[in-house]
Amino acid sequence: MLSVDRLHKRFGEKVILDAVSLEVGKGETVVLIGPSGSGKTTLLRCLNFLETPDGGTIRLHDDIIGRTANGAALPEAALARQRRRFGFVFQRFNLFAHLSARDNVACGPRRVLGLSQDAAQERARAALDRVHLSAHGDKRPGQLSGGQQQRVAIARALAMQPELLLFDEPTSALDPELVREVLDVMRDLASASMTMLVVTHEMAFARQAAHRVVFMDGGEVVEAGPAEQLFGAPREARTRRFLQHLS
Ligand code: ATP
Repeated sequence: MLSVDRLHKRFGEKVILDAVSLEVGKGETVVLIGPSGSGKTTLLRCLNFLETPDGGTIRLHDDIIGRTANGAALPEAALARQRRRFGFVFQRFNLFAHLSARDNVACGPRRVLGLSQDAAQERARAALDRVHLSAHGDKRPGQLSGGQQQRVAIARALAMQPELLLFDEPTSALDPELVREVLDVMRDLASASMTMLVVTHEMAFARQAAHRVVFMDGGEVVEAGPAEQLFGAPREARTRRFLQHLS
């Protein structure tokens, strides 16, 4: 469903992504791991052209992302339509402080998708239900814990009904006791066959929820495989070293 072929990205002289290829099948959860600075965030940001790649191709189903068939930059309006096919959950939740949780979630469907007020609210209710926050829809972000706020951010992404959800270290900014509720919601989504690409340092989540794990280092995909193989019997010395440092 998502197919990344030989993606390149430089910042100045520095190569950040070096011919990165990966696949995420429909309904799959793929977890991306790797040391700090290995290019994971940059890869996620390139997928929907928040960063413009210097080379390579990204396909979502049969559509090339960010480029016309002859390789030219896609016009901004067409790119904006493509971006809506990706949901993004960041480390920081960036909710509107003055809006209720439900209005935060309804905002995108109302303003970007043009749904009626009632339809947007209904969609927000359904999305909050999926992250088990139905009872908190009227609260503002300041009245919610960090874990609840991140679940609102996940609901906000879900309410846009994206084809693919991208998570960039969604639990890194949370106190340890709040991590679990967010991972539980992500596990539920994985079980419900949501298509997800997740950057995380939570190896237990990777073991339990990932169909495949991709290990990146120095801007390259070093190794990819099913979680039990990558964690249990890594083929590459660099993967082994990374995993040893974690334990
Ligand atoms: P972390 O786990 O720490 O978030 P990461 O694997 O996500 O790391 P990236 O954030 O993608 O790695 O960063 C990869 C490299 O690209 C780093 O050396 C970083 O300093 C550099 N980098 C990222 N964004 C920019 C930018 N806008 N301009 C210049 N260099 C950048």
